[in-house]
Amino acid sequence: MDEPDGDVGASGVNCDEALETLYRYLDGELTDERRALIGSHLDRCGYCTSAAHFEAELRVVIADCARARVPEPLLDRIRAVLADEARSG
Ligand SMILES: [Zn+2]
Repeated sequence: MDEPDGDVGASGVNCDEALETLYRYLDGELTDERRALIGSHLDRCGYCTSAAHFEAELRVVIADCARARVPEPLLDRIRAVLADEARSG
């Protein structure tokens, strides 16, 4: 089953708690102890693991977008090449 089971288990963290803490977990803002708790929950909970992967990938995409600010001179060159292509094509 691919849904939260709410099982607290040995780690003492349930899905609600794990998902709530996921952002801070990914940001590395948790204490080592807390991090270990969430980590062990993710180890045995497929639902929270996919949620964590999704969040992590989303962050990478967002970071890439933020970084991918193309410098104006490069844009000019691209425009020039495209214009050339248009003329010759
Ligand atoms: Zn879970």
